[in-house]
Amino acid sequence: MTPRRIFLALLVIAAAVSCGRREPAPPIPAHLVMLCDDPGLAGVVLPAIRVSGSACGIRRPVEVHFVSGVALNEKPILNCDTARTLREWVDRGAQPAVRSLRARITELRVVSHYACRTRNSQRGAKISEHAKGNAIDIAGFTLDNGERVSVLEDWRSSRYGAALRGMYSAACGRFSTTLGPNADRFHQDHMHFDTANYRGGTYCR
Ligand SMILES: [Zn+2]
Repeated sequence: MTPRRIFLALLVIAAAVSCGRREPAPPIPAHLVMLCDDPGLAGVVLPAIRVSGSACGIRRPVEVHFVSGVALNEKPILNCDTARTLREWVDRGAQPAVRSLRARITELRVVSHYACRTRNSQRGAKISEHAKGNAIDIAGFTLDNGERVSVLEDWRSSRYGAALRGMYSAACGRFSTTLGPNADRFHQDHMHFDTANYRGGTYCR
């Protein structure tokens, strides 16, 4: 082999090794604190949110940055009940659902959390659980092999569909309401989870 051939062969090997490399979990910044007495939750404690003349607000809000080491692209503002339920779901629902892919989730993509609005932002509709810090919407996740998975594109895909639907099913019963692409046209691109207190028990669609 000529020196040039050896060099090219080494380049190919180096590329192959780096492609298969797992991305390490992001380090948790020192300025964050444990939230809601749950060692799996790291973030920032916020002052009470009150919106005069409306039912919106959260008495003890937290801004969640990491859930069991999983980063969140957008930092959701939630109440502690919802943050703790999210942490349970990550550990016992979401991570187990991607085990068959031989991967771990390193980031969740949050598309909505606290927002003073009505359900599905429809005029005249009831106030949303998002307006009370009870709800979070998740549009997808990133794996430690760098692959990005989205509810919109992968819900029915052969590669990721089962994992997505598996983690969605694992949220049902843990959260009081779960809505996904099978629910209605408003949920084609995300999973809605909330901890609303209904007398009728849990609702999963
Ligand atoms: Zn929602």
